[in-house]
Amino acid sequence: MSDKAFSTRAIREHWWQSSANEHSQALFLTSSYTFNSAEEAADVFAERKKAFSYSRFGNPTVAMFEERLNHLEGGARCVAASTGMSAITALCMAFLEQGDHVVCARNCFGSTLVLFRQIIAKFGVSVSIVDLNDLEQWREACTAKTKLLFVETPANPLLDIADLDALAEIARDSGAKLVVDNCFATPYLQRPIEHGADIVIHSATKYIDGQGRAMGGALICRDAEDGDMLYRLLRTIGTTMSAFDAWIFLKSLETLALRMRCHSENALYVAQWLVKQPGIERVYYPGLENHPQHALAKRYMPEGFGGMVSFDVRGGQKAAWALIDRCDWLSISGNLGDARTIITHPDTTTHARVSDEDKAKMGISGATIRLSVGLEDAQDICQDLAKGFPSAS
Ligand SMILES: *Cc1c(COP(=O)(O)O)cnc(C)c1O
Repeated sequence: MSDKAFSTRAIREHWWQSSANEHSQALFLTSSYTFNSAEEAADVFAERKKAFSYSRFGNPTVAMFEERLNHLEGGARCVAASTGMSAITALCMAFLEQGDHVVCARNCFGSTLVLFRQIIAKFGVSVSIVDLNDLEQWREACTAKTKLLFVETPANPLLDIADLDALAEIARDSGAKLVVDNCFATPYLQRPIEHGADIVIHSATKYIDGQGRAMGGALICRDAEDGDMLYRLLRTIGTTMSAFDAWIFLKSLETLALRMRCHSENALYVAQWLVKQPGIERVYYPGLENHPQHALAKRYMPEGFGGMVSFDVRGGQKAAWALIDRCDWLSISGNLGDARTIITHPDTTTHARVSDEDKAKMGISGATIRLSVGLEDAQDICQDLAKGFPSAS
């Protein structure tokens, strides 16, 4: 392990140059690679010799991204995927078979819940959905067939924080793997493998890109063997990361620490400002002292609490939509983790496919608004939000 600080490692380590001595990492847009002889080709295909053969199997730009992200998360092997969802799908295909069982927190990204409940269910895998912070429910849900415990923390969209150490213990006791979607925190703010997670999932589309350009995903494994299994699966099913996207993400990793510090500072400022506004019922931000898991957030995310803030307005969906529409330049979008502040109505967009019952249990209502606080000036962001409040207009 390097003795350098995170930001130095994110820029200087796990990079290499081609014979051109380029200073910024090269983009290798090539689908295949050549060999010096027929024998060498045979050796590479038989895996007697390590070399690139075909970009679905491996590409130098993608490999550099995998190594650097792996290094930052503290894993043994990282495998990149075309999107966050393809990473989670690959996880299921690699580690689950008919008859197996998954325990998943209710407060998860909408598509993740649809995948577990509707897609993998078709292949004879059952899922138990539990409350993120009720450890007893996690423990009781585990059976001899349980292979994966899946949690997202901070969770989408109300920023609940999971107790990773406790979940890792439950996973160990039941012989299952703890999988943590670390999308909202990034390895700069939280490193789940240090707390016993077996596999960390990323949607690189979000903060790893950080500027709303490319789509990607990644799986970082504590054990190299798990990483090898995922690698073999992904290269066969083909939902691997494109070299161009990997090149974008590599440049983005260089600014990850800087961006996450600014996102965290801005989000805390906005959250504290929101608390004081009339017409707001409740503000959800792990950095606020009245957040139910503030103590856990401080333990797992000592450097900052991330850029996501949610809040409930008084007056239900009508009031929430009106607030969103009155903002002048905040982007109305479903994405997150962008330099641009994004305002979202989860109930009717990102979580529209989640059942009303689950939404009620998760605490999402028509009154809920999610903010992905960007890198603009925090006071300007508040000023634009202020236009959303009738008293301000
Ligand atoms: C966006 C997101 C995903 C899915 O990632 P894609 O790149 O959109 O496929 C998974 N988990 C979380 C927490 C996300 O925000």
